[in-house]
Amino acid sequence: MTAPELPRLNNRQVAEIFADIGDLMLILGENRFKIIAYQNAARTIAELNQDINAVHAAGALRDIPGIGQAIAEKIDELLTTGSIPFYNKLTEQVPAGVVAMMRVPDVGPKTAKRLWEELDITGVEGLKAAAAAGRIRELKGFGAKSEEKILKGIELLARRQNDRTPIGSARPLAEGLIADLLSALPPGTIQKIELAGSLRRWRETIGDVDILAVSEQPVAVMEAFRALPQAVDILGAGDRKSSIALPNGMQVDIRVVEARHWGAALAYFTGSQAHNVAVRERAQKQGWSLNEYSLTSDGHPDFPDGTDRFFETEEALYAFLGLDWVAPELRENRGEVQAARQHSLPRLIELADIVGELHSHTTFSDGKATLEEMAAAAQAKGYEYWNVSDHSIGLGVTQGVDAGALAEQRAEIDRLNGEYAAAGIDFRLLLGTEAEVLADGTLGLPDDVLATLDVVVASIHTGLRQDRETITERCLKAVRNPHVDILGHPTGRLIGRREPSEIDLERVLQACAETGTIVEINANPARLDLSGAYARRAVELGCKLAINCDAHSVDQIDLLPYGVHTARRGWLTAADVINTRPLDEMLGMLKDRNIRNIAR
Ligand SMILES: [Zn+2]
Ligand SMILES: [Zn+2]
Repeated sequence: MTAPELPRLNNRQVAEIFADIGDLMLILGENRFKIIAYQNAARTIAELNQDINAVHAAGALRDIPGIGQAIAEKIDELLTTGSIPFYNKLTEQVPAGVVAMMRVPDVGPKTAKRLWEELDITGVEGLKAAAAAGRIRELKGFGAKSEEKILKGIELLARRQNDRTPIGSARPLAEGLIADLLSALPPGTIQKIELAGSLRRWRETIGDVDILAVSEQPVAVMEAFRALPQAVDILGAGDRKSSIALPNGMQVDIRVVEARHWGAALAYFTGSQAHNVAVRERAQKQGWSLNEYSLTSDGHPDFPDGTDRFFETEEALYAFLGLDWVAPELRENRGEVQAARQHSLPRLIELADIVGELHSHTTFSDGKATLEEMAAAAQAKGYEYWNVSDHSIGLGVTQGVDAGALAEQRAEIDRLNGEYAAAGIDFRLLLGTEAEVLADGTLGLPDDVLATLDVVVASIHTGLRQDRETITERCLKAVRNPHVDILGHPTGRLIGRREPSEIDLERVLQACAETGTIVEINANPARLDLSGAYARRAVELGCKLAINCDAHSVDQIDLLPYGVHTARRGWLTAADVINTRPLDEMLGMLKDRNIRNIAR
């Protein structure tokens, strides 16, 4: 007798079940550490580079980093029997609609639980009706304002539900795919290969992944591509084009073109559509029609209609049209074609321009590595300076540094800097803090303590849902504090998970420009805060920026490219960013340098 065949779950579906478990436990107020374990498992599975079913079949669930015994057993239950009794028990206790309510921005698990228990609301539709009818204000601590916020949150939630993948998940998967494809083929089979589309432009979220390659053996490339272990589904199988679905549900298309088509094809598949339209219009004016293979004469005075021109590189194509090559990050039709024509495109910042980090964490607050471990890793990466900026007190969820802890850090930093100097190593640790901007705009550490620090980052982590006026005033107060050097992740957004605060960025950036407060581009791909567009605005207003990894562990030091490419999307040059400068020059650009020198 054979068991009835179970519907096959993909990684994303398995991840969703574990995320649900975490959410249900949150609503039920279960152990925080267990909840975190389930949330981490969900994220790990969603980003896994192999089919979870294959890993399971190979008995290798425990080899996945971050999957412990308890969770491995539950994955096994799920994939073997189609259900998890523990999950079923949780779902029996909480109506499904209550979990959905919890996902409404500004609601969260505690409020969802109260709405359900005290007002008997068990779903988003019911919540919407109750808020519209003014019923939520019956709940202690809630008023007309909360109802307004809930209605707005429901709207946001509906708008957000699309299939785009955050770049921080999409990029490693796509890069891994290319590496695996290359190693699956004899060397030399592929002459050129690149990510195209929004990934090449470093957009914050990605739809489908587009890969473009040059090879004289396209069929072999197609076969190897479709045979990749990541391909859980084949969506298209041609001689030059194939499409697969990855375990997380993301679609990847590959196209193999001839070498002479590379320039036009790469431009075509990189987009954006709006950029391509602008370039095509320019071609048309010159008597050419531009397609994915070539320029074809179409009304050109010197070439009979239908004559093709091919380009082995994008540079050659742009040059033929009288344009400078446009970096992919700029291809959004925001003035780049005109600038390319006038030869006035900026020389964009590059990864190698960054020489120091101004925002990082250690085990003194919520970091995973000790100060010494972080310093060693930073040095190995080639940084010249590194600001240790653990959270100040005032951030409820994590322990923070107070004056005493800062003194301990200072002693350790002085000792390590002494060792570096003695060994002739060109690397300096700085002591700073990520000072919490409290609800009233004061900071988590007093001014006389801040005055003793090298670089002070000030950030808002709580009360992000204050109204526009309140949160803007709160932030302005911090920006105007002479001891605050850098405004950290200004909007507080988490891409795909938390909307930015309602802060009036225009006013805040103006104040930063006036006071000389540096504005951060936080490189963590979950944040990318400021975004490229706002970074560009900040520079227009006269601000300087810093690109920071905000690393909470050694491996997060590798997140820097996300920040640099975001800066490039904002048209930034190295001169706009202070941590491209040598240490002394960078310190000289901080606003309270003079005050501090007196204080020391
Ligand atoms: Zn922060
Ligand atoms: Zn931080």
